[in-house]
Amino acid sequence: MAYWLRRGGHQPTLIEAAAALRTGGYMIDFWGVGYDVAERMGLVPAVRAVGYDLQEVRYVDGSGRSVGRVSAQTMSRELGDRFTSLPRGDLAALLYEALGGDVATWFGVSIDRIAEGAHGVRVGFSDGRSETYDLVIGADGLHSNVRRLVFGPDKQFERHIGYYVAAFDAKGYLPRDELAYVSYGYPGRQIFRFAQRADRTMFLLVFAAEHLNGREPESPEERKAALLDVFADAQWEWPAVRQALVDVNDLYFDRVSQISMPAWSKGRVALVGDAAACVSLVAGEGTGLGMTEAYVLAGELCESTDYASAFAAYEGRLRRFIDGKQKSAREFASSFTPRTALGVWLRNQATKLMAIPGVPGLLVGAQMRDDFVLPDFGRSMNRNSSVRTPG
Ligand SMILES: Cc1cc2nc3c(=O)[nH]c(=O)nc-3n(C[C@H](O)[C@H](O)[C@H](O)COP(=O)(O)OP(=O)(O)OC[C@H]3O[C@@H](n4cnc5c(N)ncnc54)[C@H](O)[C@@H]3O)c2cc1C
Repeated sequence: MAYWLRRGGHQPTLIEAAAALRTGGYMIDFWGVGYDVAERMGLVPAVRAVGYDLQEVRYVDGSGRSVGRVSAQTMSRELGDRFTSLPRGDLAALLYEALGGDVATWFGVSIDRIAEGAHGVRVGFSDGRSETYDLVIGADGLHSNVRRLVFGPDKQFERHIGYYVAAFDAKGYLPRDELAYVSYGYPGRQIFRFAQRADRTMFLLVFAAEHLNGREPESPEERKAALLDVFADAQWEWPAVRQALVDVNDLYFDRVSQISMPAWSKGRVALVGDAAACVSLVAGEGTGLGMTEAYVLAGELCESTDYASAFAAYEGRLRRFIDGKQKSAREFASSFTPRTALGVWLRNQATKLMAIPGVPGLLVGAQMRDDFVLPDFGRSMNRNSSVRTPG
């Protein structure tokens, strides 16, 4: 968002709650319309350089025997080889570097107050400062603070889709199985592992909400204990995964939720990314969609002379497309982590269909191809010649 606003001649300020740019994090698959945005930023070579050339998703049973397989190469071919997987933090770093150090960034700060006036928004910060801006754009994720301050409590907008997710990484884990997601599932539970560079392995644990027995763990210790309990009867490599989980200091844990808002803006405040319309990890595309929303919103702001029309045009262009992505993610959730033994078996059998010529095209077409063409904002987004542009 800041990159495109800057390129259009605006002067954004970034507010980031973390003390420094967040690094590492879970792996994200990156393709589709967000890939097109990265291309327009000239970032594709760098994204590909830090990305992994995923070969397959391999499903295994409790004894480690392969019971299903999706060839990532086949999927990637269907997407014109415009697909890669990379750590979230690496992509965030590339996006931030694209600003060329030219955008004021306040780390370790959050917004406490937002008060809209006739000519701007008065923003009060957690460090006591306050400033007035023309607009505030909330790009602060699924549990957006800006959304809460301006639109109200999360529970009005959050749609929990019945699963929880945890992610963490470990050093020195064996086996590795390079360039493959290896995934073991049994009813209501699914574990993925992916070997990364520097001898690290990322784990993703997904489970159906009913295994928590109604109580959501809050502290890191409670979350670890809940995971150990939920997966206590897992087979496969569970003793080793369990040990990696016990040892980890940085555990990501959250409800798998979507955000559904009646409107993505109110007055001088608009939302983008997960804050506006989280599709959830099940869509496997939230990052690219967030980048697309940011590009479109910035483009409309650069083209328009009044923010209200720009906000309306932004939502008008994207709403139907994003609603469709949310709906297909909800439908896909039960295949991502089936709740019954029959469901696990059917999902594994379905992956075998991917080996039949023509089937990947149908499935990729239905699930992954984006029915949205990026608008071209032309000169209005190229007013600032000091911003690095592709070529
Ligand atoms: C386990 C998992 C796997 C996923 N896999 C994929 C995948 O394969 N492909 C894909 O495209 N997407 C995937 N996603 C979804 C993707 O991560 C999100 O859609 C994407 O990160 C949304 O980007 P965002 O910028 O809107 O929000 P976030 O990435 O959540 O970023 C929000 C930023 O705001 C900051 N912030 C938060 N609160 C405040 C505050 N109060 N004040 C200031 N700053 C604040 C945060 O520190 C952070 O830097 C996955 C998600 C999960 C959880």
